[in-house]
Amino acid sequence: MIFTGRHLIAGEWADGGPTFTSDPVTGDPLTVFNGGRDEVDRAAKAAEAAFRTFGWTSREERARFLEAIADAIEARGEEITAIGTAETGLLDARLNGERGRTTGQLRLFAKVLREGDYLDRRYESASDANPDLRLMQRPFGPVGVFGASNFPLAFSVAGGDTASALAAGCPVIVKGHPAHPGTGEIVADAILDAMKTCGLPKGTFQFVQSNSREAGEALVTHPLITAVGFTGSLGVGRSLFDLACRRDTPIPFYGELGSINPVFCLPAAMAKRAGDIGSGWAGSLTMGVGQFCTNPGVLIAKESDALEILVTAADSALADVDDAPMLTQGIAQSYREGRNAAVDAGAEAARRSGGSDRRNAPDLLRVSGTEWLSNSRLHEEVFGPFGIVVAAQTEDQMIEIAERLEGQLTASIHLEDGDEALGQHLLPILERKAGRILANGWPTGVAVSPAMMHGGPYPATTVNGTTSVGTLAIQRFLRPVCYQNIPQALLPADLAK
Ligand code: NAP
Repeated sequence: MIFTGRHLIAGEWADGGPTFTSDPVTGDPLTVFNGGRDEVDRAAKAAEAAFRTFGWTSREERARFLEAIADAIEARGEEITAIGTAETGLLDARLNGERGRTTGQLRLFAKVLREGDYLDRRYESASDANPDLRLMQRPFGPVGVFGASNFPLAFSVAGGDTASALAAGCPVIVKGHPAHPGTGEIVADAILDAMKTCGLPKGTFQFVQSNSREAGEALVTHPLITAVGFTGSLGVGRSLFDLACRRDTPIPFYGELGSINPVFCLPAAMAKRAGDIGSGWAGSLTMGVGQFCTNPGVLIAKESDALEILVTAADSALADVDDAPMLTQGIAQSYREGRNAAVDAGAEAARRSGGSDRRNAPDLLRVSGTEWLSNSRLHEEVFGPFGIVVAAQTEDQMIEIAERLEGQLTASIHLEDGDEALGQHLLPILERKAGRILANGWPTGVAVSPAMMHGGPYPATTVNGTTSVGTLAIQRFLRPVCYQNIPQALLPADLAK
């Protein structure tokens, strides 16, 4: 495919207006049209027009559409990996795996549609006292999606937000992430092919290229947009969430923002396998240059000889990890600022990488439990290969640390026989803090499955109780509608009996 840097609006590739230049890790920069308010407005109107058909398509029609998107992405597989690696610096194997995850996600939602359980249909037959009541889930309307920088496929143009919104019956407008405009364009082209194959309205899926805040703000505030999916930073996510709430008609803003994914290492587990925990932690911390929302950035254990073994093992595993390019210059710079701020806040550097331009190597810091508790700056996410060890003085202090955590995507516990009592104290606390709790594992792998929860109390997500991964993600774009005494001929096909 020849890259054109254009938007996909109402079924046509559109250009015009100002441009920006991409900043790939390798290869030539691309000239990209910089969408703004006008492009978002045209797309929103086309999406609303499309909703009048797409919102009433059958589950089977939408299942076939999702499968056609997966097929079209696979047909472009090599091209997607080539431009994706050049733009992001992520390795071939990672992008190939992420592509499989993306197509698997689309096909999983096709299965969810065919099963139909997500509709949560409820019937109450008319009786002397009661009317005939039928309830099921219906789509919101046009949805805005922000492509994420760190997953150019699985959380981007055809990623989880798009797949779940399309499955629900909502047309989607994606604001592409400026860190990977070429990858975004190829994937948008695959979706366009699938729309044509399935004969769907032109505004069913649209794509606006942009590196300006104007497009993002326009998407969140456009009166025809009914919900937004976002993955990114706490600062930007919070300001867009506030914007969504200040609209004349507020809409749900499903933001996945920040998480430090704490790991609690209990004494018996430490006595048995401190070295393995240390090296395992280093592996999880550095995957994808640490650019995972589930990166386990903080490890809490009691001060002990075993903790020294853990730190030595982590440090020696990290010594083997070379510096590597991060997704953008800005992310690399923010990483160093976050790392330096943690050192300024009192954390001791067990391993300090330096880093320059777009490249960074891992950092390992340590701090006492008392210092961590007294300085909330140490509780903030540092996005990248950054780990901080919190050495608690007592088990009670480990519990106090758990109580002070903000909302998280995940919390992990390493435990063995003998750790049950402390585990029983920690679990009810961590259950209130995180959407997913793991034992004796690492949180970086996130399975796309019916039982997955990828969300948590704020700031992990802006809407507590929602997930952006797994089949439950579809619920974010649905609303229950009750049909009272509606004649059979008017009922949606899915509700007729
Ligand atoms: P970001 O800065 O939050 O940007 C996310 C999206 O919002 C981009 O499309 C960006 O596009 C847009 N945007 C930025 N400022 C905006 C504004 N004021 N109004 C409207 N839209 C705006 O995230 P990022 O670029 O992916 O990475 C920056 C930082 O985000 C990282 O260093 C990391 O801390 C965090 N991050 C966290 C996660 C996670 O999963 N926890 C994932 C990715 C990133 P424009 O630049 O075109 O405006």
